Amino acid sequence: MHAVFTNFYMEPIKNINHFIETQLPEWEMASSNYNDLKNVKTKTFLFNGFEILVQFNPKRITSSAAKVDVKSIEARPCFLCAQNRPMQQRSLPFKDDYQILVNPFPIFPRHLTIPKEQHTDQLIQLHFGDMLDLAYSLDDFVVFYNGPKCGASAPDHFHFQAGSKGFLPIEKDFHNTALVELVKVKQEVKIYQSKDYLRSAITLQSSNKESIALIFSGLYNDFHLLQPTEVEPMLNILAYFEKGEWIVHIFPRILHRPAQYFAQGEGQILLSPASVDMGGVFITPREEDFNKISMDDIADIFTQVCMDEITLHKLINRI
Ligand SMILES: [Zn+2]
Repeated sequence: MHAVFTNFYMEPIKNINHFIETQLPEWEMASSNYNDLKNVKTKTFLFNGFEILVQFNPKRITSSAAKVDVKSIEARPCFLCAQNRPMQQRSLPFKDDYQILVNPFPIFPRHLTIPKEQHTDQLIQLHFGDMLDLAYSLDDFVVFYNGPKCGASAPDHFHFQAGSKGFLPIEKDFHNTALVELVKVKQEVKIYQSKDYLRSAITLQSSNKESIALIFSGLYNDFHLLQPTEVEPMLNILAYFEKGEWIVHIFPRILHRPAQYFAQGEGQILLSPASVDMGGVFITPREEDFNKISMDDIADIFTQVCMDEITLHKLINRI
């Protein structure tokens, strides 16, 4: 795999707040959902040295319970293709072939969806460089990618999302040396592994964009060897730009949805883990799940869907 770079001259997108502020008054449904977010119920669990938040967000039911099998996907009009989008939805171009949209079903105080113009599969391989460019340009946001079997509700149309910085606990957890270990430095990239963090993460930090892309590419290929039947290895990625450096958290996954998702009756928790959950905010669209979810459930869900620390360490050692 080779990362694709263009000669695009990157500049922070300064008009993004103006774009959001112009969009919301024109679109009643989205505007009302952003208002509801102000009163959304949240609770916090304190684990050993870090917090996990749970957000009760009924508007996320469509995304959490999205049917992503081939048959269901083919049967519905793609909501990210321009011709099927709501009339009120504005777009802001990014690079040659992306469009920045306001996400009408927010989790973050400012929540964007950034699809490619073309209807093309959700696969990160050729788009990782774009993700770094986007993180640089949207320097007030965390940009994230959900793999086709790791929370994306449109696995057939390539897209990123972005949410306001300062919302996900992982941003501050990364600076806690009890939770993060620097394993090695290669080609100007610091490579970290999370420890005792319930979900295993690899973090790349550098001011050198090309080096991050090269390291990611190697990691991607090694990880793919462990999941040869998948179109791409299962992962969630969070990326942001801070003090002149990119910080990229990569969560290798081993399962799409936990047993609780499919359970019947009392045992069911309708939660489909994706980047936001990996970042430390669990999204429960049903109030009953919000009320009953426990620390044990959270730990158990992470254990089921994330790669174990030993395998992750082997993966890092191959870098
Ligand atoms: Zn589409």
